[in-house]
Amino acid sequence: MKQHPAAIFLDPEKCRGCGLCMEICKRGVMEFREEANACGCRPVIVVHPEKCVLCGLCVAVCPLHVISLKK
Ligand code: SF4
Ligand code: SF4
Repeated sequence: MKQHPAAIFLDPEKCRGCGLCMEICKRGVMEFREEANACGCRPVIVVHPEKCVLCGLCVAVCPLHVISLKK
């Protein structure tokens, strides 16, 4: 997959699917994955990294710190 130069990284295996990051992001960068992860949660995945403006809101709101940005 082509990686956008301004990149967001989200580890779906560490995500617990609370959805806080998707609630705060207004740009449609993420979606819930259909398949559950090893913890039995439907994790959030990054589907449109090119729409991310690196505002950092999702990083700040994630209680498990599974999102990071590369600027
Ligand atoms: S950094 Fe901002 S624009 Fe990018 S996914 Fe997170 S909330 Fe959305
Ligand atoms: S805020 Fe963190 S734990 Fe919650 S859905 Fe987003 S990445 Fe997963």
